[in-house]
Amino acid sequence: MTAPEAVAGLALVDDERAAPPRRIDHEALERAAADLLRALGADTGADGLRETPRRVAEAYVELLTPPFRATTFPNEDGYDGLIVARAIPFHSLCMHHLLPFRGVAHVGYMPGERIIGLSKLARVVELFARDLQIQERLTVQIADWLEAELRPAGVGVVLEAEHMCMSLRGVQRPGARTATFALRGAIRDDAHTRQEFLATTARTSHDQ
Ligand code: ZN
Repeated sequence: MTAPEAVAGLALVDDERAAPPRRIDHEALERAAADLLRALGADTGADGLRETPRRVAEAYVELLTPPFRATTFPNEDGYDGLIVARAIPFHSLCMHHLLPFRGVAHVGYMPGERIIGLSKLARVVELFARDLQIQERLTVQIADWLEAELRPAGVGVVLEAEHMCMSLRGVQRPGARTATFALRGAIRDDAHTRQEFLATTARTSHDQ
């Protein structure tokens, strides 16, 4: 794998389970942004718009460049209780409209073979959020990663997000959120654990 700092404009994900590395053509992106402005009837030479294609390109590169994968550790203490990181803020880009959706992720697992730092759960969310996405797929990808990397007894991922493509176009009231769930293993099958996990995420949602 090429060293990340050596490849400008190339979004690399050091994980075979993530999407294949995305090559972003910065110059083509700027040209396309300028074309879009012209197609919208805008004067690309106007004061406020002259730098817009460059800014648009930079914004998309940032939105679509995932962080590096989070490290995991052997579960040496044998902790087997529920671990939940609540209300992790995230944003992503809807693949149908190229508009953002943003909200919070609640990510939990019941440790098995390996554990991961609590703060690193946010990075796992970002690993898949910085992509052209749909919320359902994002939810499943986060759960799949945790299942594969941690071999846990259970995984629970709940995403709540507001989609600009819905709220800006009047399909949905602004502020309305869509929730998606991926529950696996004990968090899906054990009624007590499932309830414990969902109660945790629900409490956080009301606090938002
Ligand atoms: Zn959309």
